[in-house]
Amino acid sequence: MGTRNSLQLARRMAALEPSATLAMAARAQALAASGVDVIDLSVGEPDFPTPPHICAAAEAAIRAGKTKYTPAAGIPDLRKAVAADYTRRSGLTVTPAQVVVSNGAKHSLHNAFMALLDEGDEVVVPAPYWVSYAELIKLSGAKPVLIPTRIEDDFKLRPEALAAALTPRTRMLLLCSPSNPTGVVYAPDELAALADVAIEADLAVIADEIYDQLVFDGRQSPSFPTLRPGLADRTVVVAGVSKTYSMTGWRIGWTICPEPLSKAIGNLQSQETSNPCSVSQHAALAALTGPQECVADMRRAFEKRRDLVASRLAAIPGVRLPEIGGAFYAFFDIKAALARGTNGITTSAAWCESLLEKEHVALVAGSAFGAEGHVRMSFAAAEEKLTAGLDRIARFLGA
Ligand code: PMP
Ligand code: GLU
Repeated sequence: MGTRNSLQLARRMAALEPSATLAMAARAQALAASGVDVIDLSVGEPDFPTPPHICAAAEAAIRAGKTKYTPAAGIPDLRKAVAADYTRRSGLTVTPAQVVVSNGAKHSLHNAFMALLDEGDEVVVPAPYWVSYAELIKLSGAKPVLIPTRIEDDFKLRPEALAAALTPRTRMLLLCSPSNPTGVVYAPDELAALADVAIEADLAVIADEIYDQLVFDGRQSPSFPTLRPGLADRTVVVAGVSKTYSMTGWRIGWTICPEPLSKAIGNLQSQETSNPCSVSQHAALAALTGPQECVADMRRAFEKRRDLVASRLAAIPGVRLPEIGGAFYAFFDIKAALARGTNGITTSAAWCESLLEKEHVALVAGSAFGAEGHVRMSFAAAEEKLTAGLDRIARFLGA
């Protein structure tokens, strides 16, 4: 008889945290189901319905019997459409073989980490970072090296800070622009400066570009590999349809990377999950090849909401936030409120708990994103909801 319980969890589970964003959304939903008037600004999920032409393509796919296994890396037409869309928008030619379609971009990230990282490898992740990065990196056996950034730098990683974080074990740099959780968009020269350090140190780069079409004020968000010659040989671009086309539940994301790695990721996926949902793939194909007005319409709506949220938050005494150039998040500093310690509240998690309890507004604590002293608000919600939520937040902060 061993000392190990039959269902004792594997060591890799010991440090695994559940997704804080999804956990808060579940709590808010449960509270709403019990009859409480909750304003849920926790999860980052567009509130728009999936555009009708995309849903119609999925219905047609079901009727046409496209309900069987597909090639594990995705149907050829979708891989072709992803490659064509990326080539058109970035100016960098990629082939369908460089694309693997997965069960959402979260799965794409997991695939990339599993395919590239060995036990003990280090991955530089600028903090604040999206909740799942650190956990997915740890699952692969590698170590996330979290580098704090400053609100004064708009939470952008500076090349000196990246260089200072490098060790002989550093294998990878992870970048997300437009950023979840801060909404900050790096300028091309800022990304190029980071690229120079990555090239010099021979790092792989994961460029999470899932919000690349959600940029405001006429900004462009250039794809990372376009910034320096040769960068495409060391970069995995991760993106998908969840945010751009309001398709979070369909679970379609992808990696774009050099062919040998793409093949390895396809092999991994063929053992892990087989293909992503066949019907969802047809929906994603319609999203990429159909009319694109829906993308511009949603972008305009998010930009208007950004104006509302940024101006209202900035007007609250003691609240600080960076310039929100894209995505749909406001990540604001509440250190002044925490320093007052009202009702014994001194952490962002306790502050969010109390806000939910007293004002019925759900936000996510900055600690979940590696930046204590801040909270994240998603503005992927209707303006009336945002206004009511902001009124409650302002009241809670005594403004
Ligand atoms: N990356 C970032 C930065 C995200 O915010 C999200 C949203 N959940 C994802 C990846 C994963 O998206 P998906 O819904 O396609 O898994
Ligand atoms: N990315 C979104 C968020 O950060 C969706 C939830 C998740 O996948 O974590 O809220």
